[in-house]
Amino acid sequence: MKPPSLSTCSHERIQPFGIRSPNSDFTLSQNAKTQNGNITPLEVAIQQLDLASEVLDLDSTVCEILKKPKRSVIVSVPIKRENDVINVFTGFRVQHNDIRGPYKGGIRYHPDVTLEEVTALAMWMTWKCAVADIPYGGAKGGVKCDPTELSIGELERLTRRYTTEILNIIGPYQDVPAPDLYTDAQTMAWIMDTYSQFKGYMVPEIVTGKPVNLGGSEGREGATARGLTYCIHEAAKHVRMRLKGATVVIQGFGKVGWNAARFLHEEGCKIIALSDVKGGIQNQKGIDPIEVYEYQKRAYPSHYKGTLPLEYDGCTRITNEELLEIKCDILIPAAMENQITEKNVANVNAQVVAEAANGPTTPEASKILVEKGIFIIPDILANSGGVTVSYFEWIQNIHREHWTREQVYSKLRCQMVKAFKDVFATKKDYETDMRTAAMILAVGRVAAALRTLGLWP
Ligand code: GLU
Repeated sequence: MKPPSLSTCSHERIQPFGIRSPNSDFTLSQNAKTQNGNITPLEVAIQQLDLASEVLDLDSTVCEILKKPKRSVIVSVPIKRENDVINVFTGFRVQHNDIRGPYKGGIRYHPDVTLEEVTALAMWMTWKCAVADIPYGGAKGGVKCDPTELSIGELERLTRRYTTEILNIIGPYQDVPAPDLYTDAQTMAWIMDTYSQFKGYMVPEIVTGKPVNLGGSEGREGATARGLTYCIHEAAKHVRMRLKGATVVIQGFGKVGWNAARFLHEEGCKIIALSDVKGGIQNQKGIDPIEVYEYQKRAYPSHYKGTLPLEYDGCTRITNEELLEIKCDILIPAAMENQITEKNVANVNAQVVAEAANGPTTPEASKILVEKGIFIIPDILANSGGVTVSYFEWIQNIHREHWTREQVYSKLRCQMVKAFKDVFATKKDYETDMRTAAMILAVGRVAAALRTLGLWP
């Protein structure tokens, strides 16, 4: 057999691997601060934390502790490609804070993954779990790769090797990964198996978002979108909007965007525009998301190759930028960070913005949305249904139980409505907007735990 040749992907820059000291300086480099003139997700996360700390009058040392992740790991992930060449990818796992419970957060596979981005996402997970009031801290992971270019076998090897590299910092009571962008139940099954092989026995509680036949929870796949729908119901009461016939625009047709489209369509909303990474479609008469999904599945049966049918019957083709400016009742950014910015916020024309994605709105744009009287359901509340059902899955695994979908969704509804009400009450108490209120609530809960525990040693 020919020995594998050792080369790196052309688009990969290999980074040093190892554990970054928790004391390393996480204030941003000039480079990280602006990407093509845009604010980075980490800068956004830090600004949000600063604002909440100011309102809460937090001790500056508490704020300093919360600004930095407790641990950041960069790993090198070599895998053999189908052509026998070895490519070396870069993986990350950032553990922001675990004062309220084990670290929790997804793993994403994407060409734009960076340490800074994963750090921001880990910080948002801490706040998300605190807003949802579930006993977890915040973490995030990622591998910088283009998953659409990898075969199933390559994805499996990548996942298993990445898991091996972070094995000593994850665990059911330490850090529990889950799916995120371009990872799914199958990815979680590989992580669970790799971890379990090292342990010598099956450990389903090491990950959430697994396939149901391996201990996954009923309803986990649609949980983020289901939680979002519960939040939209609550918001609709406040803005006096009838959901039946309400017009909805959704950016992103992945797990969350697609399920949100489906659930809202079932509620009688009219989906007037949808998009994916390549662009979108608009039809003022309404689009049936199930038909679009079925079409997509038929046209692109291979994994990850799916794209929206841009020439779909009766629809006009639009860009992702145009989509965000369509007049509608509910706008749902369900794709990436930094989509609603100072550049386009003036043209956003919705009654409610429900942030299914993490960090889709910059702080400046968020202020302007509030000034325009738009009701924001902020990301750390709006998309917390995913991690909430992850928590249910973890409990089921630990107790070796299996709940029905009805049980899962009824518990999810209680949890989401309570989180929405807690944020709304904070908004009233502090006479502020929903995002600042969610941050005040989350940071306040984490800071209170920090104060009670004190500093070791
Ligand atoms: N990746 C999802 C998120 O950003 C889910 C995390 C989890 O379930 O742990 O919320």
